[in-house]
Amino acid sequence: MREMTAVYPGTFDPITNGHLDILARAASVFPHVILAVAENGGKQPMFSIGRRVSLCRDAVTEAGLEGVEVRRFDGLLVRFARSCGAGAIVRGLRATSDFEYEFQLALTNRMLDPLIESVFFMTSKQYVFLSSSTAKEICRYGGDVHRFVPDCVARAMADLTG
Ligand code: ADP
Repeated sequence: MREMTAVYPGTFDPITNGHLDILARAASVFPHVILAVAENGGKQPMFSIGRRVSLCRDAVTEAGLEGVEVRRFDGLLVRFARSCGAGAIVRGLRATSDFEYEFQLALTNRMLDPLIESVFFMTSKQYVFLSSSTAKEICRYGGDVHRFVPDCVARAMADLTG
């Protein structure tokens, strides 16, 4: 594998253990991974862009991942990837339900920039059904999110929901 920077984009509202699983896999293959937090995420994010970025930074430190940098981005992903000198876009796959959307996204990005390759990592089986939305739902109804999100995120979610 050529020495290459990869960008792992997402909304990360908030970052979960599933995201960290993919990030760790990517960091074991690429020497430099940029976790790119999208500004233009969901309409009503639980956390502001600044908070999502700082939680991602804390989670990366908590997980002890090396070679990972957290940055925010807005606009076209391939343009951001290019401006970082990245040659790959990392995405995570859970169940087959992710496939169609990710396939469409990857082909669109390839049309926009054929030199940037999309690379997919399969999640661990304990995270197959985990999403940021699920974690938010559990939290909203007073459930324990510790198994699903890093400690810094569990604390931030508890602070927010009282
Ligand atoms: P987006 O809004 O771009 O889908 P997300 O933050 O929801 O942003 O997800 C970013 C990426 O992480 C996507 O490729 C998604 O499939 C992947 N992902 C999310 N949760 C998991 C998980 N539990 N296991 C593996 N990949 C995941």
